[in-house]
Amino acid sequence: MSESVFGGTSSSEIPLLDIHRAELPVRIGISSCLLGERVRYDGGHKRDDYLVDVVGRYVEWVPVCPEVEAGMGMPRETVQLTRVDGDIRMLTKAGVDHTDVVDWFARQRVQTLEQARLSGYILKSRSPSCGKERVPVVQPDGATLKKGRGIFARRLMEVLPHLPVEEEQRLHNLRIRENFISRVFAYYRWLQLVTTGLTRESLMGYHRAYKYLLMAHSQEGTRRLGRLLAKPERFATTQALANAYLDEFNSVMKRTPSRRNHTNVLQHMAGYVSDRLDSRTRRELTRMIQNYREELLPLIVPVVMLRHYVREFDIAYLKDQTYLHPFPGELMLLNQL
Ligand code: SF4
Repeated sequence: MSESVFGGTSSSEIPLLDIHRAELPVRIGISSCLLGERVRYDGGHKRDDYLVDVVGRYVEWVPVCPEVEAGMGMPRETVQLTRVDGDIRMLTKAGVDHTDVVDWFARQRVQTLEQARLSGYILKSRSPSCGKERVPVVQPDGATLKKGRGIFARRLMEVLPHLPVEEEQRLHNLRIRENFISRVFAYYRWLQLVTTGLTRESLMGYHRAYKYLLMAHSQEGTRRLGRLLAKPERFATTQALANAYLDEFNSVMKRTPSRRNHTNVLQHMAGYVSDRLDSRTRRELTRMIQNYREELLPLIVPVVMLRHYVREFDIAYLKDQTYLHPFPGELMLLNQL
């Protein structure tokens, strides 16, 4: 057994690995300018201190600047997405069209990223190359609609549809940040599962370990996933079953958990430890969960208490639940919810 960075000691069949010692690092693709690389059109950067100084301690970045790597040079003229004859093109103000060269680069680069086995991707918002959504698109009448997706981002999301992808600006929202990091580590564990070999049993193990975390996102979604695994004969191969599972898993995990759902999960888990507690401690735990429900305490408080009891009483059913260790605790994301 090994001490896991996810917070506990694990003998699980699912891969709760120590990311500092794991063979596969947690790799995240990122728009280079967010790391402070001077690749912007004017030779500047858009360093994001939280990503570099905090998240960067736990992951290996794979930086990509589509415009520089596609050969647009630096400094360079700014480009914008522009609607031309029903198509979206990437043009300079003078009308020079860079669409094809950036798109060609994107197709090649995304293939190498597929081999890099990324667990997530962080894109620079509003960029005509990197922006994921609401990128300004100039219309034939001169108006600008915030409805576009960057040329590189489009290819990335087409080729790697299961990869968790977010924009740096949205990550300033604490709930979106927690949700994204949670999905990154879930996908990291999924990649580990694929590496060790997909079987129906290993899929069941993954689902069991994610049960409570999924329930916090959606109880109905968790049931749908359970039903899917209960009837594997509907799928021709284990791979087909795994693909269907991952599609559904991602759509459940994309939903932001509500305080009500978290409370429900905490109460469920407390049910497994309460008969081992004296009445005073049991009341304290119940009050703690209720205080979280009433926004008097952050989520981390009842979670830490449950982690403690699960470890102390060695409760096998709960100790590998990723709900208690969704990502490295040092990221302190549960302290802010
Ligand atoms: S193309 Fe992307 S990575 Fe390069 S400067 Fe623009 S936003 Fe940053």
